[in-house]
Amino acid sequence: MAGTAPHPETRFIYQAQPARVVFGAGRLSEARAEAARLGVSRALVLSTPQQAADAERVAELLGPVAAGCFTGAAMHTPLEVTAAGMQAARRLSADGLVSIGGGSTVGLGKAIAMRTGMAHLAIPTTYAGSEVTPILGETENGIKTTRRAPGILPATVLYDPELTIGLPPGLSATSGLNAIAHAVEALYAPDVNPVVAHFARQGIAGLGAALPAILRDPADIGARTRALLGSWMCGTCLGSTAMALHHKLCHVLGGSFGLPHAETHAVILPHVVAYNRAAAPAAMADIAQALGAGEAAEGLYDLARTLRAPASLREIGLGQEDIAAAAALAAADPYANPSPVTQEGLVGLLRRAWEGAPPPGA
Ligand code: NAD
Repeated sequence: MAGTAPHPETRFIYQAQPARVVFGAGRLSEARAEAARLGVSRALVLSTPQQAADAERVAELLGPVAAGCFTGAAMHTPLEVTAAGMQAARRLSADGLVSIGGGSTVGLGKAIAMRTGMAHLAIPTTYAGSEVTPILGETENGIKTTRRAPGILPATVLYDPELTIGLPPGLSATSGLNAIAHAVEALYAPDVNPVVAHFARQGIAGLGAALPAILRDPADIGARTRALLGSWMCGTCLGSTAMALHHKLCHVLGGSFGLPHAETHAVILPHVVAYNRAAAPAAMADIAQALGAGEAAEGLYDLARTLRAPASLREIGLGQEDIAAAAALAAADPYANPSPVTQEGLVGLLRRAWEGAPPPGA
């Protein structure tokens, strides 16, 4: 859909998302009280196999409120993993869920909560932002479908920046750029409002400043705190507004070509912003200002280079011969977008992104 992006301050609808957010270094120790506050007396703790030690630690903190752990969470929430998690919940007579991890683990918590009605306390350890959205993406036989419903939103989110100290610098960078992408697309969304626009600007500015500091010193708790705060704000943008071309392209590249989630966001973002430059001037000015850059797309490209994030689709696994098919898929069923989405335009965008070239100049 073409058109000039609306100004968020002049005409809007604001719908609050009813979640409780508990934020601060060391607050993981409050997990038991937060679970109890949700009426949970036997919590199933969820994680990936890689974060089994984190799940054990949470179970210990929960004490008698922990029913046990299920550590099988996997990328893109496969239905068979959800079924195994639900079986574990039944076997352990669990009456609530505590997820600790990135978007994959929070996704598993959402999938089980949606099917059982159990309360869900999410403890995020990346910057992906899933914990504050009512959105769930699931895969069955390799096909990913996405749904949005109020019951998917976790009831409480506990953000403890100390849990992100161990997030490797590379994943911190790409995950942070993934978060920034949510805020960028919110700023030119047709349903943006003043609250979300404020979160978007603050989120971009916070992550834009904190991520380079994290790269210099991954144990910098001040920078980790600012980044996690930014990721909450950016995640809220994703949960509150319609996403556009950037998220569509990343969905296609991840879902149909198997590209890694956060890295794909990191490569694509500056190119989509350049594509939308002329049709969303107010958003571009906000993004540039939040980054302290002369221009939005260039500022995002430079930030990604500072963070040593992957620059090209080539290096993260897209074949050159797949460019045309990816463009056709994204153009066939586009999300609403400030600039008209054409297959030809997308081929040009993806070619540059594949090569790792900077976005076209302003
Ligand atoms: P992830 O959850 O897949 O985590 C990647 C790896 O990093 C995992 O092995 C994980 O255990 C590990 N890890 C996470 N935090 C760590 C930490 N602090 N220290 C050490 N290791 C850590 O990655 P992600 O990028 O957070 O999530 C991606 C998934 O989330 C995708 O499936 C994506 O579609 C989904 N997602 C959904 C939404 C939504 O609103 N529904 C939003 C964003 C992302």
